[in-house]
Amino acid sequence: MPPVAAPSAALTAVAPAPTRLWTPKRVLVTRSAAERPYGQYVLGRLEQAGVEDVELLQGDRLPNLRGDGDRAAFMLAKNTMALVVPPASLRRLQPIAPSADWRFDLAQGCPAHCSYCYLAGSLSGPPITRVYADLDEALTGLDAYVGRGSVTSGTAERGGEGTTFEASCYTDPLALEHLTGGLARAITRFGTAEWSGPVQLRATTKFDDVASLLDLPHGGRTRLRFSVNAASVARRFEAATSPVPGRLAALGAVAAAGYPVGVTIAPIMPVDGWQQEYGDLLDAIAAVLPPGTDLTVECITHRFTPGSKATLTEWYPRSRLEMDEGQRTTKRGKFGAVKHVYPKETMAELRGWFQDAVAARLPGAHLLYWT
Ligand code: SF4
Repeated sequence: MPPVAAPSAALTAVAPAPTRLWTPKRVLVTRSAAERPYGQYVLGRLEQAGVEDVELLQGDRLPNLRGDGDRAAFMLAKNTMALVVPPASLRRLQPIAPSADWRFDLAQGCPAHCSYCYLAGSLSGPPITRVYADLDEALTGLDAYVGRGSVTSGTAERGGEGTTFEASCYTDPLALEHLTGGLARAITRFGTAEWSGPVQLRATTKFDDVASLLDLPHGGRTRLRFSVNAASVARRFEAATSPVPGRLAALGAVAAAGYPVGVTIAPIMPVDGWQQEYGDLLDAIAAVLPPGTDLTVECITHRFTPGSKATLTEWYPRSRLEMDEGQRTTKRGKFGAVKHVYPKETMAELRGWFQDAVAARLPGAHLLYWT
């Protein structure tokens, strides 16, 4: 099936001014990354963005960035971007339920400072942001996966999405877009590739710099989702992200540009007055969307693991994020991994409320999953 043309509303999409653009304090570039055409392109963008401390390495090994484990070493790592070529194994894609059929990484790491960051439990080593310089080859390599899938193409209610690729498993692509242009490249490839059958690129973000995406030939094949939360949760626990009103303005802009869109409400927390706060959030989402928007909703409650708690406590020792095992129920994953989730009664109350509230306040939306 040829790509679907964006609705004529694309002509009226207006880019909101970005509220937060990351400037890394230093950038490390491996030799192989600098040799790739896309690596060269990113180097040009870094220069344009005024990033001054760019170090071209002699080889492909990054220096030891572990530091001595103190706060300064942590902050330096968070302020460091590396341009690298990932190992070939990363381009043998892995399934990633329930979000998508396949994980497709543009980068790994994120410059923001969410106290609950889900990367804390999934990534090891110093928290630098690695941007992958093999993007062009990686995008071509997706040909082999189109038409294969298990999550979305295997279920009746998501069958129309075709084969889905998730670009936000280990990064926030929009946080880096002004420096890398990688998401725009991926969107353009998905929008213009001669693939038969439906296919979808998916990305989630807590940022709002969407100006460069609005006029791309997306063909309706990229679903841009914005991760949003109750006002008090975002204020207390989402440092160095774009504020929620900025994310919602960006959501409205990309919807007006004809993208299918989504909101990822995560991590949901039963804070004082949560019905009011999440109700206000759903109303604010409804207010920015043009009529007829293709909208999905994903709901994820807060959870933590022993590993993520240890890492987050080290990263953000003064955070007031509740991670008290005594207030949680223990769940075990496929391989026995422990997760601490809200007790059954709390989960049932939250779930019931969200299902009703989403249906009432976002009547055209498709609730993809609750977890
Ligand atoms: Fe982690 Fe996402 Fe926050 Fe970045 S925006 S710090 S990836 S939770």
